[in-house]
Amino acid sequence: MHMSHEHELNQCAAPGCAENPISRSLRSVLSFATIANIGYGAFSVVAGIASGSSAVFADGVHSVSDGYSHAMHAATHKAEQAFSVVETEHASRNIQLKRRLAAAAIAAGALASGYQAVDHFVHREQAELNYPALAVELGAVALNGSLLFLVSHRNDGSVAFVDSRRHHRVDTVVSGIAAASILLNPNVTGADSVGGVIAAGASGWLAYKTATNQE
Ligand SMILES: [Zn+2]
Repeated sequence: MHMSHEHELNQCAAPGCAENPISRSLRSVLSFATIANIGYGAFSVVAGIASGSSAVFADGVHSVSDGYSHAMHAATHKAEQAFSVVETEHASRNIQLKRRLAAAAIAAGALASGYQAVDHFVHREQAELNYPALAVELGAVALNGSLLFLVSHRNDGSVAFVDSRRHHRVDTVVSGIAAASILLNPNVTGADSVGGVIAAGASGWLAYKTATNQE
């Protein structure tokens, strides 16, 4: 789905639209996503270092940057609605700036994931099945899947809504692939690297889509 930016900004032009309970509800989900991602991300970074898993470490860095990204999206969503009332060039630029900051946060997660993946390709070793890493990755799948469910059940056509739904869809798939690679491959470090490359590629794609505002 691709709607023009102008159409999405003007869809909320009716008086009182900024108080729309569905829109407030989306912002509360984005606020929850911010707290959940930063909390779980910090846990994943520590668990990744402790268990020696590059996929878990990279996913932790990704989650922390996602938390910042979702905070920016929540602010963007509020600004989008204010823009329909205020309609100034300044408000429009403010939205675009926050969306670019969100994209930069996603890109930072992609660079961290990519660095970890390359590092482990260079220093590959045989390893036992990494049960702690697998448990943490399954937790990431559950968290992202839950956030996807929460966001998908909001009937909101704003740019922030489209970005959030796309973001959690991709994150759920990426963390699922990382968990499967840890589960299926006894050479955990090598499997981790594959998960890291996939995560870095998907995060880079998300950053591009967030910045350019396309489905
Ligand atoms: Zn993400």
